[in-house]
Amino acid sequence: MHPAIPHLIELQRVDHQIALLRSELESLPKRLREADTKLTGARAEVATAKEALTKINSERKKFEFEGQEWKDRAGKYRDQSGAVKTNEAYRALQHEIANAEAELGKAEDRQLEVMIKAEEAERRVKLAEERLKEAEQSLAAEKKEIEAQASDLKKKLEAATAEREKIVAPVPEDLRDLYARIAKRRGGTAMALVRDEQCRGCGLRVLPHIVQELRSETSEEVYRCESCGLILYTLEPIPYAKSTDGSANAATPASTA
Ligand SMILES: [Zn+2]
Repeated sequence: MHPAIPHLIELQRVDHQIALLRSELESLPKRLREADTKLTGARAEVATAKEALTKINSERKKFEFEGQEWKDRAGKYRDQSGAVKTNEAYRALQHEIANAEAELGKAEDRQLEVMIKAEEAERRVKLAEERLKEAEQSLAAEKKEIEAQASDLKKKLEAATAEREKIVAPVPEDLRDLYARIAKRRGGTAMALVRDEQCRGCGLRVLPHIVQELRSETSEEVYRCESCGLILYTLEPIPYAKSTDGSANAATPASTA
C-alpha cells in the first residue's frame, strides 16, 4: 500500500475521536437545559400549591365572616325578643333566631371543612418547597458535573487536535485533500478496512490483485473502493507508519465504522 496509508489510518482514528468528543461537548448545553426544565417544573408546583392555599384561606375568611354575621343577627333577635309585645311577634323572632343559629351552624361546619382543606394545602406547599429545594440542589450538583465534563472534553479535544497535526504532517498534500473530500462526503469516514477480500465500508468484494497490492510493502498506489469510494487498507501485515526520526511505529488498527 501507499506509504502514507498508515498515517491516514491514524488520522482516521484521531478524526473519529475528535468527532466523538465534539458531539459529546455539543450535547452538554442540552443536558443543562433539561436540568433547568426540571427546576421550572418544581417552581411551578410550588406556585400552584401556594395559589391553592391562598384560595382556601380566602374561602375560610368568607365563611368566618358569614358565621359572624349569623351570630350577630341571632344576638340582635334575642335582644329584641325581650321587648316584643305580641306572641305572634315573639314567635316570629324565635323563628328568625332558630334560622340564624342553623345558618351559623352551617357556616361553622363549612369553616371546619375549609380548615381541614387549608391544613392539607399547607402540607402540599411544604412538600412542593422541599421538592424545589432538592431540585435546586441536584441541579447545582449536575451543573458542576457537566462543567467538569466540559472542561475534561475540551482538554481531550485539544490533545486530539494537537495529535492530529502531528499525524497529518507527513501526509502529502494531495492525499490530505483526497482524505478530506471523502471524509466530508461520507460522514467523517474516509478509510475502509479490507478483510476477507471485502470492503468493510460497504461490503463489496475487493479483487484479489488489489488485496495483493494493498498488502505489498513496495506498492505506492492508493486504492479506493469502486462502490463506496473509501480509501482501502489492510491490517495484514500490520501497517507501519515511518516517523520522521526513521523509526517505525505500529499504527493502531483503525476503526472501520
Ligand atoms: Zn466499499
